[in-house]
Parts: sequence; structure tokens; C-alpha cells
Amino acid sequence: MASKWNLIVDVARCDNCRVCFLAVKDEYVGNDFPGYSAAQPAQGHNWLDIRRKERGAYPLVEARFMPVTCNHCDDAPCLKAARGEAVRKRPDGIVIIDPEKSRGQRQIVDACPYGVVCWNEERQIPQAWPFDAHLLDQGWTRTRAEQACPAHAFRTIKVEDEEMRRIQADEGLEVLEPGLGTRPRVYYKNLHLMTQCFVGATVVAQVAGIEECAAGVVVVLEQDGREVGRATTDAFGEFKIDRLEPNSRGYRLQAAAPAGRCTVQFDLDEESRYLGVLTLAAA
Ligand code: SF4
Ligand code: SF4
Repeated sequence: MASKWNLIVDVARCDNCRVCFLAVKDEYVGNDFPGYSAAQPAQGHNWLDIRRKERGAYPLVEARFMPVTCNHCDDAPCLKAARGEAVRKRPDGIVIIDPEKSRGQRQIVDACPYGVVCWNEERQIPQAWPFDAHLLDQGWTRTRAEQACPAHAFRTIKVEDEEMRRIQADEGLEVLEPGLGTRPRVYYKNLHLMTQCFVGATVVAQVAGIEECAAGVVVVLEQDGREVGRATTDAFGEFKIDRLEPNSRGYRLQAAAPAGRCTVQFDLDEESRYLGVLTLAAA
């Protein structure tokens, strides 16, 4: 079985410095790579886009960032929409939108369910990040974005599909929109930071009539009577329990310590929640 290219992106490492975005611009703006890609226009194209997600509410709030690019899908809708071999799947997994054969084929932009194909108005061609195939074919082992990223958020690997499935299972990697059935070759680690919710709160206790942050309190989260998360409060009495499905219901959270306990019931909508200040009450 042949080895194929895959890209792994760790969402937890990305801090939105956008150096990868600039590296892609530096590689493609004004540069034609015949057989691979025509030059990217100076403005308007994001072949590697950084998407943003804010989670939580004051004081437990965070912003997360995720690089998104062509997924080089194994079952690519863009390829099915193309005429005359304007899009081809290489044996090494890379999807190439041919800069000549794709002329005038705007339907390729519309066919991509990830919205990562840009339309070049001047040349009348659809364009997406070609996985730096022109560099890999010269012996490069890493993409420009991976080389440039100071946070080491990218990992480019060429392995057989069976090995990639093992890596995916071992490292808990996910792909974007798996329900589409497109079988992307771009995998994400810690994708829950963009797609799932957390719940958090500040736990306090009354000590000699004074409200104090309650550190070291064990907090257990149940959903429909089954434990789904557990955390311990930090020095500020705060905790966070992550990886909860948006729009999920029937939660019961209990914080317990020698100073007392408290229980809260809640549901989640699409966003993470800060439950406020929870005061431990003597049993
Ligand atoms: S270079 Fe790395 S840390 Fe910076 S935006 Fe890109 S992926 Fe994120
Ligand atoms: S992400 Fe879009 S453009 Fe890239 S291979 Fe998949 S369908 Fe085609």
C-alpha cells in the first residue's frame, strides 16, 4: 500500500500569530507553479484561514484559533463537480485543482463543503492550498506553514492509510465535519476546543463570616445520573469541565468539601457556560 500525505493540526497550540498564513502568502502570491497552482492574487484569498471561537463568559472566557485549509479529501466533492479532469487526486493523497483545466469552472468553488476554494477573478480559475505539492515533490518533508509555525501546531506526515488510522485512534484526532463523508486528510488534535462546550464556576465557602475562595474542592458533573466529568477547584476556587456537547440537557453538578456542598442543575445551549459563584453550604 502506498504512503500518502496527511496534515495534523493541534488546535491547543495555535495562538493566532498568523505566521502560517503569511508563509502561504509568501509561497503563492505572485508565483506560478505550472501543473500545481497559478499565482495567488495579492488580495482576497485565504488558502490557509485562521478561524476563531470564543468560549465561556467572564471571568472564565477563552479564545481559540484553528487553521483551516483544503482537506485534500479522499472522497472530494470538488473532484466530482469538476469537468475534464480539472481536479485530480494524486496517488499520494494530494488533491490538485489544475490551474489550466479548471478555467471557467466556478462550480468547483461551490462544490467544496468546507468553503476553502477561492475564485481568481482575473484568471477565472478556482484555487485552494495544494499542500505545497511542488515542494514535497522536490523532497521537502514539511510544508511552509509547518516550518513557519513557532508553536509547532502542524505535523506533516507521509504514511500508509492503515498507519494513519492507528495514529488517529492513538492521538484522538478528528476531521472537520465527518458526517459529510468526504474523508479529509487534514486531522485535528484537540478539536473540542472549537466544537464543544465547557462548564465552569467559582466555588466559595464562608469561613468565620468571610467569603473565601474554596481551593481543592472536588466537583463532579453528571448527566442523566451518569458521571461525565470531574474537576478540582484551583487556588481561586475556579474549575472547568470540558468536552460537553452543545445543546445537551439534564446536567447535575455537585461540589463537595469538608466545609459543605452545593448542587446545581442546568442545560447547555450552543455555548459554554459560567455558572457563577457557588457557595458551599454545611450539610
Ligand atoms: S503559525 Fe502556528 S500558532 Fe501561528 S496562527 Fe499559524 S498555526 Fe497558529
Ligand atoms: S476540502 Fe474542498 S477543495 Fe479540498 S479536497 Fe475537500 S472538497 Fe475539494
